[in-house]
Amino acid sequence: MTTLAPYACHAEHTRGRRYTEAPPQGRSAFQRDRDRIVHCSAFRRLEYKTQVFLNHEGDLFRTRLTHSIEVAQIARSLARNLNVNEDLIEAMALAHDLGHTPFGHAGQDELNACMQTLAPQAGGFEHNLQSLRIVDELEERYAGFNGLNLCFETREGILKHCSRRHARLLGPVAARFLDGTQPSLEAQLTNLADEIAYNNHDIDDGVRSGLITVQQLLELPIFAQHHQQVCHQYPQAEGKRLLSEVIRAMINTLVRDLTRTTAARIAALKPDSADAVRAGPSLAAFSDDLRAQADALKKFLLDNLYRHAQVMRMTNKARRIVRDLFTAFLDDPRLLAGEYQRDDPIEQARAIADYIAGMTDRYAIREHHNLFRMD
Ligand code: MG
Repeated sequence: MTTLAPYACHAEHTRGRRYTEAPPQGRSAFQRDRDRIVHCSAFRRLEYKTQVFLNHEGDLFRTRLTHSIEVAQIARSLARNLNVNEDLIEAMALAHDLGHTPFGHAGQDELNACMQTLAPQAGGFEHNLQSLRIVDELEERYAGFNGLNLCFETREGILKHCSRRHARLLGPVAARFLDGTQPSLEAQLTNLADEIAYNNHDIDDGVRSGLITVQQLLELPIFAQHHQQVCHQYPQAEGKRLLSEVIRAMINTLVRDLTRTTAARIAALKPDSADAVRAGPSLAAFSDDLRAQADALKKFLLDNLYRHAQVMRMTNKARRIVRDLFTAFLDDPRLLAGEYQRDDPIEQARAIADYIAGMTDRYAIREHHNLFRMD
């Protein structure tokens, strides 16, 4: 068994849970968090939520669930390379997208727009905040408390971004958004593992869908270099096997570069505790060269995949569905099941946002059909 670095989050020194519980037997506090996340219903719903492609558009595309598992795999490798807490990083990775609405970013942007314009007092909608809200409040599994009662460190990692306005209401878990400090190294690495995962799997899904081509991708230095390397090593490889090898090589390069760059920063700054990591500058980073290459890849995907006409059509429909649902429920909350009805108008808007955000793609489409069609 390897010993964790002094700058890692150590389970025995956790800042604890919101509701005091006896420590777990036979597993660490962060293993228990990971297990609670895997058993919660929001986690199971990830299977039916869009990453880029609608869940029912094809059986082989990534969903939020398979994306989260890929993030966890990459994050765990990083944790082992850098001697930080693998259980904690896995918990964060598996929970990082729990708050996503149906239909990916389109659904979230529309839900936020609805909250901002139709219920301006209610405080908008942010998916990171929603992930925290799910694990803190919305899951109903335990007799003694709402939510999953996770450790501070796991909650800190789940809350990737947060406006100052919300940070003021959330207490210690959001303090860093007010005082400019960092989250743990595990949280920093999970963020970048997320980026490595989606950049690479979106290439795979994009080519599989026919919306982007290998020919286009070869204009990107990071793709071209690895493509050349794989063709040299496996001259007979072609088609999806060649593409898989290129993606595999790119993930490897990114993980190794991130490990090396982060290790160098750790060696220079010598943080001696997780709190020293929080107080210092951000540690987890790619080298400047890889950062630039990864940014070019992101821009390519934005221009050619996320804004492809076919994706935009889906996005447009998704936004309409979310807006129609929100408007109908806000106009007449009696359309909602009793558990989502509230007396206070601000709480009502929030309950509607919770309800819509919790929907899977399919459920939202069915609910829209139920509300707006007679047949
Ligand atoms: Mg993600």
